[in-house]
Amino acid sequence: AKTPVSIIGLGLMGTALARAFLTAGHPTTVWNRTAAKADALVADGARLAPTIGDALGSGGVTILCLTDYPAVRELLGGAELAGTTLLNLTSGDSAQARETATWAEKQGARYLDGAIMAVPSAIGTDEAVILLSGPRPDFEIGALGTISHLGEDPGLASLYDVAGLAMMWSILNAWLQGTAMLKTAGIDAATYAPFAQQIAVGVAGWLPGYAEQVDAGAFPAEVSALETDARAMAHLVEESEALGVNAELPKLLKAMADRAIAAGHGGEQYPVLIEEFSRPGQ
Ligand code: NDP
Repeated sequence: AKTPVSIIGLGLMGTALARAFLTAGHPTTVWNRTAAKADALVADGARLAPTIGDALGSGGVTILCLTDYPAVRELLGGAELAGTTLLNLTSGDSAQARETATWAEKQGARYLDGAIMAVPSAIGTDEAVILLSGPRPDFEIGALGTISHLGEDPGLASLYDVAGLAMMWSILNAWLQGTAMLKTAGIDAATYAPFAQQIAVGVAGWLPGYAEQVDAGAFPAEVSALETDARAMAHLVEESEALGVNAELPKLLKAMADRAIAAGHGGEQYPVLIEEFSRPGQ
């Protein structure tokens, strides 16, 4: 039998979650502050919980998908949580996730935190990645997409979420930098994109090996030394300025490398910059 689910919060995302569960045949209970948003789901077989307590008490897992953590705390504040299993898919930071886990566990709930890395229209397909952290799930929610349990620390889903965004924006910004430079030579974005993609994929392949250096805290220059990279960075800054395109990002990259070199790391390999990332910036 499919895990019974209750969805609390029927905004754009909560509605997509409830719809995916209904489609997959889960017994689905819904609750929303503005009850009218449940109408279409109820017409398609969802059960409308008359109260929050009813939604929490319907067995299986209760999924929260509200605007933010204060809304979650406000809503669950007076409710009986003992014996419930909560999965909070509301976006927030790792501290909020850990605090909410402690708060809910103190009241006898089993609490998992999660992060949705997808738009509502992707929910129910493999492309929808849903990160979970906290105790190992004792329910089945594969109907939502690709579910990944990251570990016991309830803050992990939020941390992986922002780390993934950092990766995404860094790749996109690097691509836009190159696109702006090549446009000055009459090369359009579509012509440059396959080359940029090839570089991104190639560099991504270095990550596991570089991660070993970070974990070992030892950065022998097997491929190139940081000072060699820094000379090429100077070239990137100068070329950007000469072409009249934005040089802020190249200058930031170079400033970080220069600091590491000033600290004596010029002869080591690029991942030694982890030391620049592991403390507050200047
Ligand atoms: P919406 O603005 O569409 O929905 C917000 C929901 O929160 C509504 O159900 C609203 O109820 C409810 N709500 C807000 N405050 C309260 C409160 N104090 N008490 C009770 N209910 C409250 O947002 P989304 O559905 O798009 O997003 C929900 C969560 O999912 C957010 O944390 C968002 O970051 C996350 N998310 C969304 C994505 C997206 O693409 N939409 C992608 C990934 C994550 P009411 O209907 O009564 O106003």
